[in-house]
Amino acid sequence: MDKNAEIALKLQALRDDYAARLPAEIQSLRDLVNKLSDPDLQHGALDQLSQKLHKLAGSAGSFGFADLGKQAKKLELQAQAWLSANQLDMGMLRVFAVAVAALDGQAQNDGAKKIPLVSQSAPLKTNTLIYVLEDDPDVAAEVCMTLRHFGHQVVHFSTVAAAEVEVLRQPPDFMICDIMFTEEGRETPAAVANLQSHLPVPIPVIFVSTRTDFDAYHAAVRAGAVGYFVKPLDIIRLVECFEYYLDRHRSAPHRVLIIDDDLALAEHYKLVLSSADIRAEVSNNPRDIFEVLQDFHPELILLDINMPGCNGIELAQVIRLNQDWLRVPITYLSSEQDEEKRAMAMGRAGDDFLSKPLGDRELITAVSVRAARSRQLSDALDRDSLTGLLKHSRIKDQVDAEVNRAARGGENLSVVMLDLDHFKRVNDTYGHPAGDKVIKAVAHLLRQRLRKTDAVGRYGGEEFVAVLPRCSREEAQALMDDVRQRLRDITFTADQRSFNVTLSAGIAAYRPGVERAEQLLQEADAALYRAKAEGRDRICFGS
Ligand code: GH3
Ligand code: MG
Ligand code: MG
Repeated sequence: MDKNAEIALKLQALRDDYAARLPAEIQSLRDLVNKLSDPDLQHGALDQLSQKLHKLAGSAGSFGFADLGKQAKKLELQAQAWLSANQLDMGMLRVFAVAVAALDGQAQNDGAKKIPLVSQSAPLKTNTLIYVLEDDPDVAAEVCMTLRHFGHQVVHFSTVAAAEVEVLRQPPDFMICDIMFTEEGRETPAAVANLQSHLPVPIPVIFVSTRTDFDAYHAAVRAGAVGYFVKPLDIIRLVECFEYYLDRHRSAPHRVLIIDDDLALAEHYKLVLSSADIRAEVSNNPRDIFEVLQDFHPELILLDINMPGCNGIELAQVIRLNQDWLRVPITYLSSEQDEEKRAMAMGRAGDDFLSKPLGDRELITAVSVRAARSRQLSDALDRDSLTGLLKHSRIKDQVDAEVNRAARGGENLSVVMLDLDHFKRVNDTYGHPAGDKVIKAVAHLLRQRLRKTDAVGRYGGEEFVAVLPRCSREEAQALMDDVRQRLRDITFTADQRSFNVTLSAGIAAYRPGVERAEQLLQEADAALYRAKAEGRDRICFGS
């Protein structure tokens, strides 16, 4: 069974469970209502009633009982009003009792509706097809060549008319469009916007232009721009821009921690998120919070507010007192509508608020954008700004962690140290900015060739370290040799002059007995030194 079908089945099972529990739940609400006319029992019953209605209002919508949830919310607000006034209006109570009794019917109505389970995400493509619309042959040649070197399938169009036909026949994964086609007398944003309206899924577009006026940017946005580059082009940055968009689908799944005392609801959220390739863990025990954070390293915490024992606001404060987790955003997920209480929650700790009941799509979107933003900020702290690779200390941590893992699991592990050849000469001859371009290109090549589980860092100026778990030395060599040849094939340009750059690398492989990361790094470094001594542009092994 495919993954989505499996998730749909589990969601249905949760929904059925929920529906089966509802009659008893509604009966318990009725019993509480009956106690309201007894002055001795009134206050306690009202308090319980308000809590139960609150829970129902927060969960019913997610299990397909939208109207029931809305009605429960109304009743909860009434109960709360009586609680805070500390008295009950007997006339209103009769209406209230009828409304509670009617919840059963509401539940049956809702239950009879066929509500689609969470929608399936589109299958991912692996091979990227890019259309380049550019009437300047020199720019077109450079862009196409670079993209092909990075392994993409590229088709060039020198007229808008030709592109229009082909986009409709075979929509690409990405477009790069010059804005002005002077000879044809057309501007691409209008043409692209028109094309997009005929496509089932919009195509992400990067516009390139010499124009920097507001109208050009505005037209680009209307045509679905995800990037805008001003000529002369920094092609490596351009490649990175669209890889970033493609990578959103390919990068490791986001991690979200859900803390809610309503386990069925939390499980529902978890399943919905997993249908969108988001990993969610559920916890309902606030006391375990630090162990859970340590094990799971979430990028976002979804926190219910009303929980017995330690409520969400207190728990958010507890988390914020620990310096280790400062960077993880906390989003309250609650059906609390009282503005005062929401403001109070935000004032204490926590970063924002999502209102229950939350639709499946809304949940996925809300979590995706927050987790992506969280990862982006976290990356900014851990990563080198020029290349986006891990910083020196972080890649060393990574080698440490992988050596420990290999020691426990007895699996392969290779560590690579890589250095550009005669790089000082590149800087001296073509200038420092040209050198930076090369460093970015190497970083890009590495990121592209390595797997999700690999880690790569900028170890020094033009020196890189890659950690490759479950990778033998032969596999590591094949991989690095591919990177070496690809780099050698890239022609860089600076001031109308073109040049090529090569690299050397040393590989060290883990074997039992190796205890420290430092040992592998030293072996890789010694191997790199040998590669340099033996003539550069090659890969050598450590002992
Ligand atoms: P070898 O083949 O032996 O590695 O020779 P090399 O010239 O590459 O080695 P060396 O270590 O002597 O020079 C490294 C050069 O890399 C020196 C430095 O200017 C340059 N470099 C280091 N970081 C950066 C950077 O961020 N940008 C640029 N453009 N150059 C850098
Ligand atoms: Mg060097
Ligand atoms: Mg060096």
